[in-house]
Amino acid sequence: MQCARVLSSQGFSVLVLERSQKAGEPNFSTGGIPNFVLKEFKLPKTVVIDSFTKVTLFTPKNHATFDYAKPAGYVLDFAATKIFLAQEVEKTGGEVVYGASVCDIKVTDTGAQGVYLKTGGEMHFVHAKYIVDATAKESVLASKMGLKKGISTKPTVGMEVILKTKLDKFYKNNLILYIGKKFIPHGYAWIFPFGPNTYKIGAIRYDGSHGDALATLDDYIQKLIASVALGENHTIERHGGTLLLNTGYETNTWHNVVMIGDAAGLCNPLFAEGIRHALWSGQQAANAITKNNVSLYTEALQEYKKSNWQISRLCANMLYHFPYDTARDWLAAKVTKLTPQELLELVFNYKYKLLTKLCK
Ligand SMILES: Cc1cc2nc3c(=O)[nH]c(=O)nc-3n(C[C@H](O)[C@H](O)[C@H](O)COP(=O)(O)OP(=O)(O)OC[C@H]3O[C@@H](n4cnc5c(N)ncnc54)[C@H](O)[C@@H]3O)c2cc1C
Repeated sequence: MQCARVLSSQGFSVLVLERSQKAGEPNFSTGGIPNFVLKEFKLPKTVVIDSFTKVTLFTPKNHATFDYAKPAGYVLDFAATKIFLAQEVEKTGGEVVYGASVCDIKVTDTGAQGVYLKTGGEMHFVHAKYIVDATAKESVLASKMGLKKGISTKPTVGMEVILKTKLDKFYKNNLILYIGKKFIPHGYAWIFPFGPNTYKIGAIRYDGSHGDALATLDDYIQKLIASVALGENHTIERHGGTLLLNTGYETNTWHNVVMIGDAAGLCNPLFAEGIRHALWSGQQAANAITKNNVSLYTEALQEYKKSNWQISRLCANMLYHFPYDTARDWLAAKVTKLTPQELLELVFNYKYKLLTKLCK
């Protein structure tokens, strides 16, 4: 949507085809973002539900909390954010069609001619000068063109509930991660603030793993809720999604076709964080299309990712798949050597050199 927003604002004729029937759907994401994202991508405060001025890491035996004078980040209303972006596209003359499922792409030797889509049970063909695949894990068009051939990534599945409940004041404006087998094997659980007495409480399991085959994600979430909720609670919503958390793909463009967001493997494996990377890639793709040169996108992508996705993937393997919680307890004890600002640099800017501070 960000790509369409930028292109439409520059006078390009833009058509967004969205499989969901309803604007804002699928509404699956927790919506946590670092604070600079609002300004960088011109998102209004109206799409923000809450902010965090504390970040806490729990491991089975330890915990560490970092305090910030100003919000270190925000929790978005994910559906409202998508609706806002769609409205921005429409405001400048672009078209967003819901209930339109893209199925195939027509290619010739010189590039792609357009896409086939199904809407209302009927097949249609739309011609396009540029085609952007933003279909996340399915990466429908890239897959059809064989760009993902031979790349297999096991699915990472996340789920969360939006819970109305009264929690201790410790949980207010606190972004909390729970890492360790006690909370969930092969993943992590979380509590994010989501408005007055409301929280997003979730769990994610990496790479198709099954720590305890009998326990579902909901079991881990309910266990976490039971350990923190002070009294009555009411589930407002339950949702989830699947991600492919790899280090990205070698090829993200083909002639006049560009892959962005999760479709380009941009959801960072460290904490399954992909919203700002999807926004960034959309913006970069738009810039490259504006200049009629998709290789600019490839260059920008390489520069943006550097080796960060590879190291993030390695860290995720250690954090979630390492068999012993003692290492995770060590991390929670040592991470306090970082200043609150350094923690953000590590988590959001992937400044992995800071990890050496933990060993001193
Ligand atoms: C439980 C959970 C919690 C998360 N929490 C966070 C978080 O707190 N912060 C964060 O930064 N990231 C988070 N993420 C990851 C983040 O949501 C994604 O990385 C991000 O949404 C990727 O954006 P995208 O536009 O690439 O893909 P998506 O947001 O998945 O959008 C893809 C769109 O393509 C549409 N589509 C798919 N196939 C077709 C088709 N054939 N035709 C037409 N349309 C199609 C879909 O309907 C969808 O609207 C979370 C993910 C999960 C699963």
